[in-house]
Amino acid sequence: MNNLPSNSLKESLLNSFGFNDFRPGQEQTITQLLNGQSSLSIFPTGSGKSLCYQLTALHLPHLTLVVSPLLALMKDQLSFLASKGIKAASIDSTLKGNEAQTVMAGVRDGDIKVLMVSVERFKNERFRQFIESVPVSMLVVDEAHCISEWGHNFRPDYLKLPSYCQALKISLVLLLTATATRKVKQDMAAKFSIRDEHIVQTGFYRQNLDLSVLPVAESHKNNQLEKVIKAQQGAGIVYVTLQHTAEKVAQYLKQYGINACAYHAGFDSDTRSQIQQDFMEGKIQVIVATIAFGMGIDKSDIRFVIHYDLPKSIENYSQEIGRAGRDGLPSQCFTLANLDGLNTVENFVYGDTPEFAGIERLLNIIKSEIITSAYGGVSDSKWELQILQLSNAVNIKQLPLKTLLVQLELAGVIEPLYAYFADFKIKLLKPKAEIINRFNDQRKDFLQRIFNATDFKKVWGSLNFDTLLQDKSIERNRVIAALEYLAEQQLIVLETKGMTEVFKVNPNELADPSLCSSLSNYFKDNEEKEIKRIATLVRFFQLDTCLTVNLARYFDDNCFDAAGVNHLGTVPQCGHCSVCRGQVAVLEHSQAQIPWPSDEALKQGMTELAERLSGKINQALSLESYCRFFAGMTVPLFGRNKVRQLSGFGLCEQQRYQAIRDRVFPLFADLKK
Ligand SMILES: [Zn+2]
Repeated sequence: MNNLPSNSLKESLLNSFGFNDFRPGQEQTITQLLNGQSSLSIFPTGSGKSLCYQLTALHLPHLTLVVSPLLALMKDQLSFLASKGIKAASIDSTLKGNEAQTVMAGVRDGDIKVLMVSVERFKNERFRQFIESVPVSMLVVDEAHCISEWGHNFRPDYLKLPSYCQALKISLVLLLTATATRKVKQDMAAKFSIRDEHIVQTGFYRQNLDLSVLPVAESHKNNQLEKVIKAQQGAGIVYVTLQHTAEKVAQYLKQYGINACAYHAGFDSDTRSQIQQDFMEGKIQVIVATIAFGMGIDKSDIRFVIHYDLPKSIENYSQEIGRAGRDGLPSQCFTLANLDGLNTVENFVYGDTPEFAGIERLLNIIKSEIITSAYGGVSDSKWELQILQLSNAVNIKQLPLKTLLVQLELAGVIEPLYAYFADFKIKLLKPKAEIINRFNDQRKDFLQRIFNATDFKKVWGSLNFDTLLQDKSIERNRVIAALEYLAEQQLIVLETKGMTEVFKVNPNELADPSLCSSLSNYFKDNEEKEIKRIATLVRFFQLDTCLTVNLARYFDDNCFDAAGVNHLGTVPQCGHCSVCRGQVAVLEHSQAQIPWPSDEALKQGMTELAERLSGKINQALSLESYCRFFAGMTVPLFGRNKVRQLSGFGLCEQQRYQAIRDRVFPLFADLKK
């Protein structure tokens, strides 16, 4: 491992990136990594986390593999690296034709030093084969808090990264995140055996951010927003929860002479990048955005960030306000708050909890689909799935279903064996004979057999693996390697679809009678945790002690406690938040309580739903299904059967989910009599 003295690190920083000095935490992280010490770095958003791996990668002998949760983040980091002349690439779903092969060839040649992928890419058979064949010096996990079940944005597939890391024999790991509570931090470090002394955390506190909570009734929000913006100077972001709110609010502001523009994931990528560019160049003063905006925005002079709706969590809040004032100049952060939108935020959580019946169905499906094979006296039970079909079959949304599968893995019920593509499609770029004739006799024969097993239509041919592999001398891996080679040589275009995951099943664990309820409890616990997280958020905005100090403590930054223990023994104060200015916020429900629909209307809705779904599932509809229907939540069963068109859908969407349950329960009980 290269062990560079610190002056040559600085030289490298200047030569490769054009910066004179490291920002806090960067040098320590890079030095640790170059000493072979896996590290966890927690820096606030926009303080140069990525540079830690980018500079290190230049001094490592082999590839740096970066796992990133968002395509937008990857693209931003790639264009930054490209602007510095550093060869980096990503393998992602937007690559067309042979682009992935070109990237793989570049990595193999050592030409590309940094490769970015999503965590899901590891399930891809072609990618696994490839990455196992190249040496990797370092694994970087961006937004690493996704690995912790205690944090926000938990992504079940991240839990498998430690085992991927072992399988690929990567000994050096860097975890990067902007926000971590103490619990999340310890959890992340433990999962990758990172030692305490290799956790690098810079201060969380930002002196130039002024925090204000403004309690406001829903009907006055637009007016209040306009006033707040007109009192500001410079560029700003207004965050909203829903796409249509973004458009309505931007429209309102324009009407009142403010140069504002909506931004959300519903726009196509060209429109989005145009808006970003106009904002960067100062052609737009205010962006009204859903959280999709700002991940990759590197605009240092954003003077204000306003939360029009309550943020999703304290972690989200701190990330979003963190986009203001990166130049260090004073910047304002406002939250326009009341309790009206709370049920919407809570309902997102309830909508994701799988029903007990759904979990039961999944376990039954596994039991009935096990394929048992015996060779060499050892019997082996396998089960395979395609996620979309399974999601429909068990009526659980894809994300919670993936969580459920990871929980089954962690409980030892299933073990991932491999994943493969059910469909291989081939397009010839040269005549068949010409391709075959390029190779020696043995290979000619092998290719001929592959082509023989391919059913060519006009342009594309689909390979029938079952036919091909009947010849026991042919191995699937060799076939794929050959096709990849042809694609790399631009002789064919290869397309793969129908990702199928294969698991080994442990029948004893699967037969455990308490399995279903323990899984169900896991999700109930998570639901409770999430609902509590929302309550903590609401409490935060109503605190009667300094907001800044509380926020810093939440993220385990005790700077105020160390430096600021004042002789009066009072709670430390930042002096630049609304509470320090004597304004303690009290949040209220501002809209008149929306009346409940009558029993008759609800009963009619239930009948409607039951009729629409009759014959579509092989059991009676559950209480939860009716509640979700009235709350306007979508589950796979609803989507497929166009339940949205029914008049009862979303009939109670203004109500809290728990209240809907209480209201529907007696009607449901009647129905079952
Ligand atoms: Zn304060």
